[in-house]
Amino acid sequence: MTKTLRAYNSFEMAQTQFDRTAEALELEDSVKSLLREPLREYAFAIPVRMDDGSVRVFRGFRVQHNDARGPSKGGIRFHPQESLDTVRALAMWMTWKCAVVDIPLGGAKGGVICDPHDLTAREQEQICRGWVRQVVRNVGPTRDVPAPDVMTSAQHMLWMLDEYETINGGRFPGFITGKPVGMSGSLGRKEATGYGVVFTIREALKEMGIPVQDTRAAVQGFGNVAQYAIELYQQIGGVVTCVSCWDQKARASFAYRKVDGVDLVVLRGITDGFGGIDQSRAEAAGYEVLAGDEWLAQDVDILIPAALENQINGDTVNNVSARVKIIAEGANGPTSPDADTVLTERGVFVIPDLLANAGGVTCSYFEQVQSNMNYYWTRDEVLGKLDLKMTEAFIAVSDLARSRGSSMREAAYLIAVDRVVQACRDRGWV
Ligand code: NAD
Repeated sequence: MTKTLRAYNSFEMAQTQFDRTAEALELEDSVKSLLREPLREYAFAIPVRMDDGSVRVFRGFRVQHNDARGPSKGGIRFHPQESLDTVRALAMWMTWKCAVVDIPLGGAKGGVICDPHDLTAREQEQICRGWVRQVVRNVGPTRDVPAPDVMTSAQHMLWMLDEYETINGGRFPGFITGKPVGMSGSLGRKEATGYGVVFTIREALKEMGIPVQDTRAAVQGFGNVAQYAIELYQQIGGVVTCVSCWDQKARASFAYRKVDGVDLVVLRGITDGFGGIDQSRAEAAGYEVLAGDEWLAQDVDILIPAALENQINGDTVNNVSARVKIIAEGANGPTSPDADTVLTERGVFVIPDLLANAGGVTCSYFEQVQSNMNYYWTRDEVLGKLDLKMTEAFIAVSDLARSRGSSMREAAYLIAVDRVVQACRDRGWV
């Protein structure tokens, strides 16, 4: 993994992707300068009294990139390497993601520089409550609706909701999504992102005329997105031969391989709440342990990066096996623009993050709708609506890509940016 951690800035990457689209759409300078930067950003301190009595100050962020199409929406990440630029990039990607699946929301993202592995539940609760206290006037069901992301869970969302409701004196379940089912959460939300990734893989394979039963996949990550992507992919007949994850004890990543297919139930049974697989128990269960970046070099048809950004980059792209036909970006920003060019030249069908992992925000939107009505749908209803929305978006992007002879990423960006620009124009902003 060390190679992939070279100097890299996600926000510059997000801006480069936007610039390419702006050029293709021949956008005026005023529109470009509005959309290249966030509308609003908040950076703040969160002092927390730790369990040992000392006070530690954490840095928190919320960035609202654009809300022309509706209240902004985006997760909150707890990560030791979190930075304002990462949050800016993720907020911009959220704007495009909501637009490409055509849900009436804008884009935002939040984060806290911290490592929950080293924090007790009470300390994490204090960070959640402190984060809300710092942005309470700038978020809310009609302004900006947070959600979980890397290393944040339904429990974190509930603490945040409770703080928001305590300050505002009422019940506002539409303030946040990713809440526990039974506490204004939506059935199907935990599966939504991973399942959504597989809906897009299914459509891509259909277009290529490849039966899913004939395919094998390798996955980076074994958290929320990865586990549910593996679950549905296996259910429809695919074989996953390798998964990789971060090992907190070793402070390194490892890949776990089983050529006849990983057993999801076994792996889940030896995985912690952060998506870290217990290495010795994996070895005992017959898994081959490889270096973390080996997931990328497997002899498979499909790669699903579902961990962090910038994993397939100029240094690693040439390790991708010649057999790989599809890369479905479960993570946000896993492929750098230079690697993307190489993959396009090689004819790899890349399903871009803004489309592939849009199932999460689409289901979050469904959760928001249900929370605002205070009426909840069945799991089948949620996942059925999700499949429909994702499939429609996939077909629209794929049709445009085919008609322009462009990549799926270019087509998805053209559709998304055009919709956001139109909303800004309609509002008279530009
Ligand atoms: P998670 O915290 O549940 O899991 C993250 C996984 O990545 C863990 O298994 C962890 O061990 C692994 N990981 C971390 N660093 C790694 C490394 N260096 N090498 C290999 N594995 C590593 O997070 P998640 O919710 O599954 O999110 C994963 C990605 O998907 C992120 O990019 C996130 O922004 C994106 N995403 C998540 C959602 C969602 O609904 N959860 C929606 C859209 C996009």
